[in-house]
Amino acid sequence: KLHNTILELKGNIRVFCRVRPLLPDDGAGAENPYICYPTSTESLGRGIDILQNGQKHQFTFDQVFTHESSQQDVFVEISQLVQSALDGYKVCIFAYGQTGSGKTYTMMGRPENPEQKGLIPRSLEQIFKSCQSLVSQGWKYKMQASMLEIYNETIRDLLSTNRVGIMENGAAAKQYTIKHDANGNTHVSDLTVADVSSIKEVSSLLHQAAQSRLSVGRTQMNEQSSRSHFVFTLRISGVNESTEQQVQGVLNLIDLAGSERLSKSGSTGDRLRETQAINKSLSSLSDVIFALAKKEDHVPFRNSKLTYLLQPCLGGDSKTLMFVNVSPDPTSVGESLCSLRFAARVN
Ligand code: ADP
Ligand code: MG
Repeated sequence: KLHNTILELKGNIRVFCRVRPLLPDDGAGAENPYICYPTSTESLGRGIDILQNGQKHQFTFDQVFTHESSQQDVFVEISQLVQSALDGYKVCIFAYGQTGSGKTYTMMGRPENPEQKGLIPRSLEQIFKSCQSLVSQGWKYKMQASMLEIYNETIRDLLSTNRVGIMENGAAAKQYTIKHDANGNTHVSDLTVADVSSIKEVSSLLHQAAQSRLSVGRTQMNEQSSRSHFVFTLRISGVNESTEQQVQGVLNLIDLAGSERLSKSGSTGDRLRETQAINKSLSSLSDVIFALAKKEDHVPFRNSKLTYLLQPCLGGDSKTLMFVNVSPDPTSVGESLCSLRFAARVN
């Protein structure tokens, strides 16, 4: 039984792979799947094999979720990690993969359908429920949520009701300067930080944030492809009134921009610039996580906005989980290999 022990056994970085089911729009050749699972027919394992031009590439991750894994199956494996934010840990959960591989499904899901809710709504439900049950032990919590996106290395506040500051090219007029204080708290100037005390409040903010996500590009691959990183942050401050204990946890849930390579998206002009910014921040993220995993002295946090923003939540005793999302569409084999190699390096 690997399931529950993994979080305790290894260091602070985990990598989970998730393969989405085939969809009606997927390309031809689906009858010859290029993905296989070496161990069994179970919906949860650790190995994944990719067949490309008759060659087999084998990967191992902390967990591999197949097309049969439900949102609940996935959440069961991360609920402990989410819980640790209530115990005062800083937690980051990322979804990495090409556009259409299931990142947003994994993070947000389809919130209107209870079974298909993703890990953001599930995590929030668990957190608010736990807070209530801890009241009887004297705990009082204060929660603050912020939601932003990073587009072309520029931060956008998704909770700002004042959209006047957005310029023609999509960049914000405000600078949103990132500062970290001595206590490891991050301050982003001008960013909306909303006090939230119920799942209902935070759900409506998530809805508002989804509405303000403007940077939806039109690559040849997918008109809806997201060209920005979405960062949801929940700050949790807990005080125990009888023991005077205090905890300060942070939960960051990040839906990364599509990782597809340049040639395939046929990018020019603005799209080219976007893709270069995305590539830069994704490779910086990989460099940072790799340096942390190897316990290197120098961790290049400052090479991208994303890694700098998350710096206090990536090092030290913080906990990081990366989902690498993979599409079973046979035309995606090249991108899937790239994603798995990226994640295997992180692993
Ligand atoms: P991405 O955010 O990586 O671009 P999406 O999450 O939007 O990809 O997924 C692409 C499509 O596949 C969407 O229609 C989504 O609902 C569907 N999908 C993704 N993962 C699953 C899954 N595990 N089960 C069912 N449908 C999924
Ligand atoms: Mg998406």
